[in-house]
Amino acid sequence: MSVFNSPSFDSHELVAFKNDPRSGLRAIVAIHNTALGPALGGCRMFPYASPELAVEDVLRLSRGMSYKSALAGLPLGGGKAVIIGDPATMKSRSLLLAMGDFIEGLNGQYITAEDSGTSVADLKIIGERTAHVSGIMDGSQFGGDPSPYTAQGVFYGIKAAMAFRHNEDSLQGVRVAVQGAGSVGRYLTKLLIAAGAEVFIADVNAANLSLAQTMGAIPVPVADVLGLTVDVLAPCAMGAVIDEQTIGLINAGIVAGAANNQLAMPIQGEQLRQRGILYAPDFVINAGGIIDVYYQRAEGSSNSSAAHVERIGDTLQEIFARAEKTGVATAQIAEQLAEEIFLPPVKTAAA
Ligand code: NAD
Repeated sequence: MSVFNSPSFDSHELVAFKNDPRSGLRAIVAIHNTALGPALGGCRMFPYASPELAVEDVLRLSRGMSYKSALAGLPLGGGKAVIIGDPATMKSRSLLLAMGDFIEGLNGQYITAEDSGTSVADLKIIGERTAHVSGIMDGSQFGGDPSPYTAQGVFYGIKAAMAFRHNEDSLQGVRVAVQGAGSVGRYLTKLLIAAGAEVFIADVNAANLSLAQTMGAIPVPVADVLGLTVDVLAPCAMGAVIDEQTIGLINAGIVAGAANNQLAMPIQGEQLRQRGILYAPDFVINAGGIIDVYYQRAEGSSNSSAAHVERIGDTLQEIFARAEKTGVATAQIAEQLAEEIFLPPVKTAAA
């Protein structure tokens, strides 16, 4: 398979490969679209079973960032980086420095940030070789970690969905099932419980689950969380959680969570609509992190992040209303709205 033939290629502007035998770095940077500004997106480290899978993943993630930043109202394009390797065994200082050199060589067309398999500490090492890195701000409330802002955006998204579906502004007594008690899942739990919601949570990691429990969440088995009878299901673990098999299990009127690429296939967006389930498109509701990473870089602080993140609720309201009016799935409407922002209008011959 060539990059150009990949199902996720979708007119990427640039795909760069790096092989550095000295440090063991094998990495790919994909830049999907820079119409609105430089491409910003996280650097993922993962033990991909093949280079083809790494290419596919970076293209898919990079494309997603164009849509996410456009709908978040940020002057940013979409890009992403992947490092091929197990972060537990292959990550080294020399590998991260080589990654910094790779990013520096792209002259600011791509700005990197944290993603799964990389930490703020790793990004700081990358930042020794390149200025094109964000989400590493010292002295801020969360030390550069954007997860609290992602959780805040999901919280506003849940409120927007409840308001749209039930005309209800309060989350008092609302039942929410959270899949994944990681960074975002736990911050979200804290916000939901403070707002009076009842939170049920599941995680394969017992330590994270018990941290959520100390916040007042009710633990449930991993196998049961998707099927709980609740008002809101918030997937905050991994992607492709809603597929042909799982879609029928859902007993929530609203799906609104942080995980990227929640729908295994686009058709699941339409299937959720047909089942009467209001879906908050993942790349809209989980934009809090990129918004904060943007401000950390643009303003050197997170002071403007919270107010901007709050607008995620308004964007979702607009998507829900347009979806209802047209009878089209919310995920499809969100993609259309984003393309109206970052794709140039098609010129007609008659003009
Ligand atoms: P994290 O790694 O801190 O937490 C994920 C949690 O999910 C972990 O506790 C893990 O044990 C758990 N998990 C994994 N598989 C599970 C399963 N089958 N059932 C239940 N729990 C399971 O990640 P995070 O930073 O909290 O991010 C959560 C999701 O949100 C990810 O999909 C991430 O890509 C997405 N996201 C995160 C941010 C951010 O700012 N951190 C921004 C946008 C999107």
